[in-house]
Amino acid sequence: MRTRFAVAALALVITVDHVSAQQADSTPTRTAIRAGRLIDGRGGPPISNAIILIDGDRITAVGPGLAVPANARVIDLSRFTVLPGFIDAHTHVTSQPRDYYEDIFRKSPIDVAITAHVYAKRTLEAGFTTIRDVGSAEFIDIALRNAINRGDIPGPRIQAATLTVGSTGGHGDLSGFSPYLKFGTFSGVADGVDEIRKLVRFEVKNGADVIKMIASAGVLSEEESVGAPQYSQEEMNAVVEEAAMWGRKVAAHAHGAEAIKRAIKAGVASVEHASLIDDEGIRLAKERGTYLVMDIYNDDYIMAEYKRLGFPQKILDKEARVGRLQRESFRRAVQAGVKLAFGTDAGVYPHGWNGKQFAKEVEFGLTPMQAIQTATVNAADLLGWSDKVGSVQPGRFADLVAVSGDPLADIHELERVSFVMKGGVVYKQK
Ligand SMILES: [Zn+2]
Repeated sequence: MRTRFAVAALALVITVDHVSAQQADSTPTRTAIRAGRLIDGRGGPPISNAIILIDGDRITAVGPGLAVPANARVIDLSRFTVLPGFIDAHTHVTSQPRDYYEDIFRKSPIDVAITAHVYAKRTLEAGFTTIRDVGSAEFIDIALRNAINRGDIPGPRIQAATLTVGSTGGHGDLSGFSPYLKFGTFSGVADGVDEIRKLVRFEVKNGADVIKMIASAGVLSEEESVGAPQYSQEEMNAVVEEAAMWGRKVAAHAHGAEAIKRAIKAGVASVEHASLIDDEGIRLAKERGTYLVMDIYNDDYIMAEYKRLGFPQKILDKEARVGRLQRESFRRAVQAGVKLAFGTDAGVYPHGWNGKQFAKEVEFGLTPMQAIQTATVNAADLLGWSDKVGSVQPGRFADLVAVSGDPLADIHELERVSFVMKGGVVYKQK
């Protein structure tokens, strides 16, 4: 019985894959794109009238004046600027807030799972062909990633963190309610070295590509502080050491100066938010080559909308304290030359709005080309995927976006993506 069932299930999977593959891509394997201007992600001046040759899901050649093979499908983007597909290194793609208490008490993980694909599609159609998703309940991010990779549903490439790793009473715990209130869900709470190691192992076992550590207090949770450390140095070291043993990098959520420094000393790949980073933290990040992933757009949305979404005043007060300071910290990090990768925290504000952060990055100190690089080569480097994504070069995935205007003259063009290709398949063209 067991064998027959397995065979039947396998046949079903093959059928489904076959249909979805045909729907997604009825294209010849060879494609040539005529790009009016190409910004390849590597920082050089735009290339006029570039040809991009694609075989299957990969780029094979790039340059002006390349011969177009006779049997190739030709996509004419000669009136557009073509760029590498964007990378958002800090999303929560499985959900977004509608109502604070309703989201906590009236929704089950199944409600979350059933709508996650909608947000993945919106993210892809905004031009974000790769995301690093840094925190999701119940391994929904893993199921979503796998369904996208199988071709069942459209969405970006995903590096998934699964449950956050944090302390009792911390930003990853649920605080502020009755101590008798318990949810029968998987817990991302771990205290002390042994529990931390076990939780990291449990996450890797269940598909985590990257580990998300809660190094400090946070804004969108009800603990008192916004930035106090929530792990000792020893605990943070354990997270990084255990993750490294399984070949995983660590992204550390940290707003406060002390927590940021502990996380950098522990050896994390990136500090998320970094809102209240001090001069020593900036110096340490530069010295260690630690990326800062600073979500400097979403404060606009939170301050405008979260009261309407029923968030407690305590949380709004915390956001009011850190939002402006974080943008000033970003400017200081730019001036110091710290490595920056693009990360928006999409999922605390609407998915598909990821591109709005480019303009904030320019407002607070980056050139338009540098802002583009935070979401292309820099983010690819942070993810350890420089050989796959983040630039338009032979050997990379054919992940491309196009905008009608010149983003170097008006960075807001990146909020209006007209064309999206991922792995040689066109997902948006208008
Ligand atoms: Zn986040």
